Amino acid sequence: MFWEKDIETISRDQLEALQLKRLQETVETAANSPFYGRLFQEKGITPHDFKGLDDLRKIPMTTKEDLREGWPYGFLAVSRDEIVRMHSSSGTTGRATVIFHTQSDLDSWTNQLARCMYMAGMRKSDVFQNMMTYALFTGGLGFHYGAERLGALVIPSGPGNSKRQIQLIQDFDTTAIHVIPSYALHLTHVFEEVGVDPRKDTRLKIAFVGAEPHSEQVRERIEDFYGVRAFNSYGLSEMSGPGVSFECTCQNGMHIWEDAYIIEIVNPDTMEALPDGETGELIMTTLCRRGMPLLRYRTKDLTRIIPGDCPCGRTHRRIERIKGRSDDMMILKGVNIFPIQIEKKLMEIPGVGRNFQIILERKDFNDDMILKVEVEREYFTGDLKKLESLRKTIVNELKSDILITPRVDLVEPNSLPTTEGKAKRVIDNRKD
Ligand code: ADP
Ligand code: ZN
Repeated sequence: MFWEKDIETISRDQLEALQLKRLQETVETAANSPFYGRLFQEKGITPHDFKGLDDLRKIPMTTKEDLREGWPYGFLAVSRDEIVRMHSSSGTTGRATVIFHTQSDLDSWTNQLARCMYMAGMRKSDVFQNMMTYALFTGGLGFHYGAERLGALVIPSGPGNSKRQIQLIQDFDTTAIHVIPSYALHLTHVFEEVGVDPRKDTRLKIAFVGAEPHSEQVRERIEDFYGVRAFNSYGLSEMSGPGVSFECTCQNGMHIWEDAYIIEIVNPDTMEALPDGETGELIMTTLCRRGMPLLRYRTKDLTRIIPGDCPCGRTHRRIERIKGRSDDMMILKGVNIFPIQIEKKLMEIPGVGRNFQIILERKDFNDDMILKVEVEREYFTGDLKKLESLRKTIVNELKSDILITPRVDLVEPNSLPTTEGKAKRVIDNRKD
């Protein structure tokens, strides 16, 4: 059941005592970095001031902009000799940020990933195919080392090359995959093209999906098509990468490993702390990192803590599926919309295919949303009335949900652009 029962089911009191001890060590280490050294001096903070977890609030938050300014070595807290690996973010919202690890940092990250995969049911006997980029991006190497630590047979297939992926899955009896959800949906077309039904013709049973926001509806589609259970995996390079937060077999939110991070949820406008249950920005402090500790890092990811205990027995709190980053919010005609709301609605409508794109235009000071939506092939044959009626349904459903009337263009399956990495859902042509 558990990879590390004692730590996974630790009591709140013991957990908080462990967090405090690790926080004190972390603050002491962080003080050696140019960034925190300067910050502590400016604010009159001394590492010995940390008597309780609440003292964390004395420290101002660290932002992505701080990391960008600290490029390349401004956050390094140990000598460069001790660093054995560098990773970086994908650069989704601007210049990428960089993270450095000591060997002990890598060991604890690897262990966290093994813990996550074990929690979702992966075992030594599994064959694990890692369809993620192996490079500066953390998704590939992070999961790779975690799966090896667990003892599974790892196929480091990397992303793309879809026909070869399917061949590997079949030839080597792959049972578990790690895949970006939008790519998992794209790959379904290739399965169909080569005439392989993953439910019948493969041994797949587990899919780890993450790295980008996706709705429950997308999870269901992946589970249905592949005949697997799909587990949501959340992480970010600044917090080492995947392995930060992961679903257990209850699939009711993601346990966030509180022995490795202190989490806070705040109102992103006022920075005020929010109680469990309320949605806000996730703020995280690393507790198991020496090379480059980060204190009160603003992830910009919006989520909430799910109140209550999980039936699996793990005591680490759960966060809800990420709604998106605060940067992802589109403001149209005064209405705030997240791409995931559109995805959720679209994927509920029968006939809608597996990919879509949102294009924002501005004409005569008016904002318009154009939605390109793939629909099932049958709508393009014979009577085109069905296509028009589906188009109207989509417009009406969205209008009642997001209060904006989009222009909807229906397109053939597998005709919209796809990437090997994170999907680019929104093209905003309003910015000049
Ligand atoms: P970048 O921030 O440049 O995209 P990363 O590769 O470090 O670089 O990506 C981390 C980000 O990806 C997270 O902050 C979050 O916005 C998004 N992300 C990762 N996993 C998930 C997930 N399971 N659900 C939603 N968003 C996710
Ligand atoms: Zn659980």
